[in-house]
Amino acid sequence: MAVRPTTIRFPGNPIEQEACGVPWGVTLTPFAAKDENDIPPVYGSGGELLPRCENCWAYYNTYCEQDQWSWDCALCGTTNGLSSESIMRYSLPHSSPENMSSFIDLELPLEGSEEMQARPVYVAAVDLSSSEEFLELTKSALLAALEALSPGSLFGLATISHKIGLYDVQGPIPVVKNVFIPPDSAGNLTMELEDVMPLFSFLAPVDTCKDRITSALETLKPTTSWERTTAAGQGLDGVLLGGRGFGVAMEALLKYLGSEYGNTYALARVFAFLSGPPDYGLGQLDTRRYGEQYASKGEDADLALLPEQTPFYRDLAAVAVQAGVCVDIFAVTNEYTDLASLKFLSIESGGSLFLYSNTDDSTLPQDMYRMLSRPYAFNCVLRVRTSSEFKLGHSYGHFFPDPEYENVQHIICCDSFATYAYDFDFVNDVGFSSKELPTIQIAFQYTVVVPPDEPSISGSSSSKRGKYSLKRRMRIRTLQFETARSVNDIYDTVDPEVVLSILVHEVILSSLENGVREARILLHEWLVNLTAQYNDAYKIAEYTRGGLSTSHVDVAFTQCPQLQHLPRLIFALLRSPLLRFHEEGVHPDYRIYLQCLFSALEPSSLNRAVYPSLSSYDTPDKQAYPRHSLSRAALITSGSPIFLLDAFTHLIVFYSSTAGATMPFPPPQDCLLRSTINKLKQERIITPKLIFIRGGIDDATAFENYLIEEQDVEGSGFTSVMGFVSFLDEINHDVVEYMTKSNGK
Ligand SMILES: [Zn+2]
Repeated sequence: MAVRPTTIRFPGNPIEQEACGVPWGVTLTPFAAKDENDIPPVYGSGGELLPRCENCWAYYNTYCEQDQWSWDCALCGTTNGLSSESIMRYSLPHSSPENMSSFIDLELPLEGSEEMQARPVYVAAVDLSSSEEFLELTKSALLAALEALSPGSLFGLATISHKIGLYDVQGPIPVVKNVFIPPDSAGNLTMELEDVMPLFSFLAPVDTCKDRITSALETLKPTTSWERTTAAGQGLDGVLLGGRGFGVAMEALLKYLGSEYGNTYALARVFAFLSGPPDYGLGQLDTRRYGEQYASKGEDADLALLPEQTPFYRDLAAVAVQAGVCVDIFAVTNEYTDLASLKFLSIESGGSLFLYSNTDDSTLPQDMYRMLSRPYAFNCVLRVRTSSEFKLGHSYGHFFPDPEYENVQHIICCDSFATYAYDFDFVNDVGFSSKELPTIQIAFQYTVVVPPDEPSISGSSSSKRGKYSLKRRMRIRTLQFETARSVNDIYDTVDPEVVLSILVHEVILSSLENGVREARILLHEWLVNLTAQYNDAYKIAEYTRGGLSTSHVDVAFTQCPQLQHLPRLIFALLRSPLLRFHEEGVHPDYRIYLQCLFSALEPSSLNRAVYPSLSSYDTPDKQAYPRHSLSRAALITSGSPIFLLDAFTHLIVFYSSTAGATMPFPPPQDCLLRSTINKLKQERIITPKLIFIRGGIDDATAFENYLIEEQDVEGSGFTSVMGFVSFLDEINHDVVEYMTKSNGK
């Protein structure tokens, strides 16, 4: 569980909070195996015995004052009695994790229905209204998945077109049974899937059926256009209907699996492979809205294309949650698919959304293998408590708020990367007293599937093998912070990466509600405000008789190294596909995909995605400089022959045209550059796309697009004035205007 605050020293009171202009909050990665300093929790049992404060329900922790019979709550100060059992346990030094560390992970007893031996269940739902290339890619992804699945898992293969196909691979040859989907948007299936094929014929054990699953995959063929048009009853020549009855098929599959929820499985995962928008039957999406000419109508295209057009997939996510199923969507398409409507099915059911624009260089199989090899937690309940002087403001990330309890969040499924963010507010005007330290406590309850034990050497019976069990655990982390003595003191402890995380959440929300244009304005104004507050705090701005002039304002944060990187980050965020305009060619589905990806990233990864890191090499084995700014000028002045750009989703190796012909291209497998790349790939939630470019020979656009500092912030091309420099000029101008206005001068 990693926790990172925007400022290590908290503002002392609401006046300081307002005056600093920096968001006050934290990012939280609850299922990370270690804390932000790489320290693991202390493990133990008896989570249900951990004493709790009778006033605020916080858990007992190492920051609590304790005497023989009682303890004082570190969050609200209430004195609580200790039970005789606790007195016994706590009389021995270091007898319990909660007295050894402020970061603990304790076993909890399972409730009745959870004591089953649940097997992991995985279902692939493959779109057949697709191409040969799409199916080839899907097959390799599923073959990778089969390698990653642990023995004892159950696997089902279903296909989706104008009909649903269910595979039984447990006999000598794979058998497929189909049920047709009614074309009209109100019709339901004529037959329940359970009647088409019993669920236990569909779900096959991976250990014994791997080969037959593989041969079933080999039989997958795209439906013909003739089949599709006939099914739709519109045999018009030349009209190619997708015939993709995705909505009905997913609804039916969820219901089908749901009957075994809590019995065979505790969490099932459905991998949905889509090659285009659902365009047939219930849940079909109208993609014509993408073709509309918003610009000519004076409308904000990004505002028009970001909201969902139907609540169907959000409602379906609720059905998935009820059925204990988490849905991962893999969209492989360059066609408009309206992920704005589809995304809810994945993110709200605890799954992920992946988008690949083509089948050629897709990292889908690697991503699939990676996703299934990572540990994950499910049925999670997250609660963040604060000491009495402050409270939670906004909460950001992919979770469900509890309908009853405030600040209790449900996470259907999360891996060790999934990150959430919160901001804080004071409860009143008083602020923190000098005695009490601001305290946060995070309680995270979760379930994991534990694989069966290896058979012991003494020879346990084979019937015992292959049995999975569930473990319920509770992770508690308590943190204390200092308060700042002044606004300058806050600035000195700013973590720009965490500030960026909170800002990214804010602009995503703003663009979903008010459009991209508004979100850009919000971000610009934030930087103007911060710069003005900083100039005030350091008393830099000089008012002369003629008023304040731009030469009297410091927009480079020269007095405060912690803030210096922020203008660059804001500029980069404005240049990122998250906030670039539709007219600049940002595909609306790509924007939605990035929104979903970015709003779950931990701060360092997000930082890299927004402002890629650029390093240079003298040779493939020798680094020249670890860091360059993203500008053409920096490249030229460095004189290095090789550059490595890491943009989180992409890794680009660029050989400048000055690189000698003796320099091996692409870099050999056993060099420093390669091992650096491999390490970066290893540590990442998604597989970055690796690109090699030779300057002067290959098309270098992919690399040059990342050199943003000479680009115009509004995307109107290369201006006569340099991009980032003129952006700072504009900020400077706006700061002067803002300060002049707010000082009444
Ligand atoms: Zn308390």
